[in-house]
Amino acid sequence: MYLCDTHSHTKISPDSGAELLDTAHAAIAAGLAEFCVTDHHDLLDYAGIPAGPFDWASAKEQYRAAKAQLGGRLTLRLGIELGSAPYDPQTAREVLAQGGEEMDFVLGSLHNWIGMEGNRDLYFSSFHRNTALARKVMESTLDHTWTLVTKCADCYDSLAHIVYPLRYIRRDGVELSIADYEDRVRAIFTEMARTGRAMEVNTWHGADLGSWPLLLSWFKECGGELVTVGADAHRPEDVAKGVPQAMEMLKAAGFDCVTTYERRKPVLHKL
Ligand SMILES: [Zn+2]
Ligand SMILES: [Zn+2]
Repeated sequence: MYLCDTHSHTKISPDSGAELLDTAHAAIAAGLAEFCVTDHHDLLDYAGIPAGPFDWASAKEQYRAAKAQLGGRLTLRLGIELGSAPYDPQTAREVLAQGGEEMDFVLGSLHNWIGMEGNRDLYFSSFHRNTALARKVMESTLDHTWTLVTKCADCYDSLAHIVYPLRYIRRDGVELSIADYEDRVRAIFTEMARTGRAMEVNTWHGADLGSWPLLLSWFKECGGELVTVGADAHRPEDVAKGVPQAMEMLKAAGFDCVTTYERRKPVLHKL
């Protein structure tokens, strides 16, 4: 089985202190063949303030140094997790252009409210006993995801953690199911399949394995072929957590391959 983890953070991200070389060694220890670092660049920061430029210079310096140290022991890729592209597609495109030839992979994320609730990261909203707010964030995130896949398909390769709002809705004890939004998710998946984009199975360092079998079956039925897998680790010890289980889920859903990216081109690997 081809084990790969294409969602991981280091000290270049505001919410991680990890060194890339340490996470890459953890990837080797976990038996991964391929590993992609995808540090955050959210066009809106935690507090909803438009962010400055991404520090590509530091990201590339760290990547090149790790790659030189590792030699052939691991296929190491350079990616980015670009948040809120629909908020400012022009800036999103500028950030990606600065990545240049060396950039392998773009995860498209929506971590923030956009146009409401102060544009803050959903992490800071309280959904406690507030089903109305939980429904509002699901609708809002699906609206912006629709914009991403229809208007900004060049701003991402794989759609990261479509269930992101549910992380915090559930954290706060509100029960909502993605199944309540099946028609909208299927429309998004159909557009992703049409435009040759991937969906991500995000294991959230092994804490969310339950969301994916249903979503994978919908994606498959909508014509989707490309699936990436990531543990979304922010610490070396979380690299690859849940990845072997995710590969089994892909197989069970009828996928033959897992996808990684090289210079923004999908590469399919037999499971
Ligand atoms: Zn994310
Ligand atoms: Zn992430």
